[in-house]
Amino acid sequence: MSFERFLNQQLADWDRQRLRRRLKVARPVSGMRVATEEGELLVFSSNDYLGLSRHPAVVAAAVRAAEAEGAGAGAARLVCGSTEAHARLESALAAFKGSERALGFSSGYAAALGVLPAVVGPGDCVVLDRLAHACLVDAARLSGARLRVFRHNDLNDLERILRWTDEARVRGFRSETAAAGGGRIEPGRVLVVTESVFSMDGDRAPLREIVALKTRHDAWLLVDEAHGTGLCGAGRRGVIEELGLEGRVELPMGTLGKALGAAGGFVSGSVSLIDFLVNRARSFVFSTAPPPAVAAAAAAGVELVRGAEGAVRVARLNANLEAMHTGLVEAGWKLAAPVSPIVPLHVGDEGEAVRLSEALREEGLLVPAIRYPTVPRGRARLRVTLSAAHDAEDIAAFQRGLVRALNRTGLAPG
Ligand SMILES: *Cc1c(COP(=O)(O)O)cnc(C)c1O
Repeated sequence: MSFERFLNQQLADWDRQRLRRRLKVARPVSGMRVATEEGELLVFSSNDYLGLSRHPAVVAAAVRAAEAEGAGAGAARLVCGSTEAHARLESALAAFKGSERALGFSSGYAAALGVLPAVVGPGDCVVLDRLAHACLVDAARLSGARLRVFRHNDLNDLERILRWTDEARVRGFRSETAAAGGGRIEPGRVLVVTESVFSMDGDRAPLREIVALKTRHDAWLLVDEAHGTGLCGAGRRGVIEELGLEGRVELPMGTLGKALGAAGGFVSGSVSLIDFLVNRARSFVFSTAPPPAVAAAAAAGVELVRGAEGAVRVARLNANLEAMHTGLVEAGWKLAAPVSPIVPLHVGDEGEAVRLSEALREEGLLVPAIRYPTVPRGRARLRVTLSAAHDAEDIAAFQRGLVRALNRTGLAPG
């Protein structure tokens, strides 16, 4: 089969299953509005939860850094690409997180891909929540460690697997035959991996209980705070802070492209952890440093979030969230009390989710349907996200548009 034919057959197949995705250009206008080919749309799907991506201080920091240090860093951090902007970002992150040090990566995806395989490998075991983000799954696979998956947020299932690791780690997680094949066998390491706030469902992991379990079973813990950083806890450091678990999670990871308004990923921790990752995390070692402008923008985002501006914006976001939740429940949606700015409206069928998303688009609302492979088949949904950049009228416009879209598609609130 020719290469082009292979590509086109696959694309046609995705079309039939309503799984084909397309890029659409959206130009930010003001607040959460974007200009598109079909006119202006109000966005309810951005992770710019605090509206910082367009904050004048964040934008000015990027412009200044680009002018002072250039558009590109020119090389990897360890070669000659480690600029003042990177150093300032990492000091700001360490001060924000209350850790000795922090290390920035060019994206959250790159952070996961660098960190997991640096700390575990063949002979070790990664114990992963079933709904963990794709980058954590890919990183776990890349590490070569044995992969075990526990049911989403299910402490009994996690404990069952950790009990199994107590015995299996003696053989270094190799099969009986491989273990019998000789060679030096070291006890395997066990790394539990989860998110603090889950990206597609907006629910939270029971971190206090997970910390207790991993401690009891002598495992380590990586917590991805992509959707907790900047939003949760009195210092807005994340759910780990909110639950008083700081210092008890070996690998706290965060991203800079969501509430912090820029781009990148990071890990915070001890001097030893950061030195270790600088030497071992391949996505850090073998990749060009993030542009100085991006690092500077992220540093400005961190400073805003830590300060009074952060408190004001989180309060505005929470007020929006409450108004949205009240309205949806009144409209007949069965929703749990919100614990994050992510409100999943479950539809189920992929085709119906796409139809509802298209109907909302005709109402001037941008809420893409989230489908397989991002979520399991038959669990399609509209992932509604809120931002401090929305105002009360935006929330009301969404509620009105949703009612009309449901009427037109003949779908009912789920
Ligand atoms: C967005 C996201 C990432 C990836 O971060 P990027 O900076 O977008 O690469 C990692 N983990 C979770 C849970 C995310 O939602």
